[in-house]
Amino acid sequence: MNRRYRKTIIAGNWKMNKTASETKKFAEELKALLPKAKWCDVVVCVPAVNIPAAIKAFKDVRVSVGAQNLFYEKSGAYTGEVSADMLKDLGVKYVIIGHSERRQYFGETDFTVNKKVHAALDAGLHPIICVGESLEQRELGITMELIALQVKSALAGVSAEKLRKCVIAYEPIWAIGTGKTATAEQAAEVCTFIRTTVRHLYGARIARSITIQYGGSMKPSNAAELLGQPDIDGGLIGGAALNAKDFVEIINAANQE
Ligand code: PEP
Repeated sequence: MNRRYRKTIIAGNWKMNKTASETKKFAEELKALLPKAKWCDVVVCVPAVNIPAAIKAFKDVRVSVGAQNLFYEKSGAYTGEVSADMLKDLGVKYVIIGHSERRQYFGETDFTVNKKVHAALDAGLHPIICVGESLEQRELGITMELIALQVKSALAGVSAEKLRKCVIAYEPIWAIGTGKTATAEQAAEVCTFIRTTVRHLYGARIARSITIQYGGSMKPSNAAELLGQPDIDGGLIGGAALNAKDFVEIINAANQE
């Protein structure tokens, strides 16, 4: 983390978990445990149908509500999809774009990720752009090439001014939901590389100010070490974000001096 230059953001990704009533219950538990967080922004990305319940439940506390996806068209005959404007209108602040599960199960590509990033930014949302390599790609030694490609494609056509609204999450696919965490060195190496890639595209000042998260089996026991890396400015957390106590422990790790 480097709080002098950029925000630390701890974001939970609930994936397809919890009903609206469970959302309310979680919010009550979280609110009871939350520290008076000064430095760290907290986001909870809930299933789309639970957004109104989450907005209501978190309205009196500094927790932003995020979505897990959007469709890039503004409106029209796209059965089952949700637009950026619809999310914005509900009070959503962040939206996860290009999560590896969406790339893997729902055919998202670097091209559609870029369109979704633009749609989110045009609506005034903060995209959390996910990038990451598979185990095979890591073993082939092409992690950095792949990450550079994903970052450059996701940000194609994004102005420097709009980049300020973006968050990039490095999520090695082999570490998501597997219990296998990247070592702090592995995570730091790629997060630093992402910042270098952004610097080549936008210059040093902007690269210094962008929040880069790590995601992949982050939990209370490893959060402090991961967040202690200078280029890791927060976490995107799946499993451990479903439990208010674990989530708060990670928030506390992000609030350390
Ligand atoms: C995720 O869903 O983005 C994620 C990192 O999941 P987990 O923490 O469960 O690995």
